[in-house]
Amino acid sequence: MKAIRIDKSETGQTADLVDVPESELPPGEVLVRVEYSTLNYKDGLAITGKGPVVRRFPMVPGIDFAGVVEASEDERYAVGERVVLNGWGVGETHWGGLAQKARVSGDWLIPLPKAFSSRQAMAIGTAGYTAMLCVMALEKHGVSPGDGEILVTGASGGVGSVAIALLAKRGYKVVALSGRSQSPDYFTRLGASSVVDRAEFTEPGKPLQKERWAGAIDVVGGRVLANICAQVRYGGVVAACGLAGGADLPATVMPFILRGVTLRGVDSVMCPRPERLEAWSRLADELDPAALDSLTHEIGLEEAIATAGLLLDSKIQGRVVVRVP
Ligand code: NDP
Repeated sequence: MKAIRIDKSETGQTADLVDVPESELPPGEVLVRVEYSTLNYKDGLAITGKGPVVRRFPMVPGIDFAGVVEASEDERYAVGERVVLNGWGVGETHWGGLAQKARVSGDWLIPLPKAFSSRQAMAIGTAGYTAMLCVMALEKHGVSPGDGEILVTGASGGVGSVAIALLAKRGYKVVALSGRSQSPDYFTRLGASSVVDRAEFTEPGKPLQKERWAGAIDVVGGRVLANICAQVRYGGVVAACGLAGGADLPATVMPFILRGVTLRGVDSVMCPRPERLEAWSRLADELDPAALDSLTHEIGLEEAIATAGLLLDSKIQGRVVVRVP
């Protein structure tokens, strides 16, 4: 089978498209013929070696895949059924989706919702499913469309783009925060009502600032997240899932103890199955396929290594799907 393989030697980490014997696939109950995979920020870190994502070598990257069951020792999955996988350490500690085949635990798979093709499922990918987990987190903490504006950071990236589309569809007034605020059309097409420049949020700010946001979805972290917490309105909620701008959080407790602000972490990798099923079911019901198509860019498996570098350099807008031959 063709696969991207990451190896490590004394001189560093390499990623190549190679032929790998299928017999080298790791153990698992279900063998899947991958139709589409995708590139998330984490895949970019894994392939380029810019972040410590891969924890076992050699590794096939790809934290997501969608495809057809080819063999199954798990009675929940029949041969020929379409399935989707997000996370569970796949592409980090267990061979992942940037290959023609993947063998995984049946517990990690979910049946592909009928509303989606494999390509559409990967246009959503971990990024889109995490965006839905963030929307669910805001709503579980009481945020609703009448409460005021919701800020979405990293707005031209995968999580941010899908989050804007989902929130706008549910009737929220969405403000996109982006380092690429000079091209607002992309954000307004997704449903954002306005765009703010990331530069306004990168300087140290006061612990409590003017109350602006009923809620926020943040993929950036660092000073941007600290300033957002200081601007969230009384009782508002921030769903934090990313570190594209840094893993630190130079904030004070003031927004939490004086305005009752909630900072809610969101993890997609080990997210329990019932919540995953809820997220995918809601994506099937609520995500506008036209919005999905407008933010998706398709590449072949042979282009994935080069595109991973572009993704980390913020040269990609929206989502990348990887067609697996
Ligand atoms: P993308 O690369 O698609 O998007 C990231 C976006 O963040 C960019 O498009 C850019 O948006 C913005 N950005 C990039 N670099 C910086 C920077 N230095 N400072 C501030 N903003 C920056 O990534 P994803 O959407 O796939 O993932 C976003 C983040 O969320 C990542 O940190 C990822 O690891 C994390 N994540 C976490 C998950 C979880 O389970 N907790 C699941 C999925 C993702 P713009 O140009 O518009 O500002």
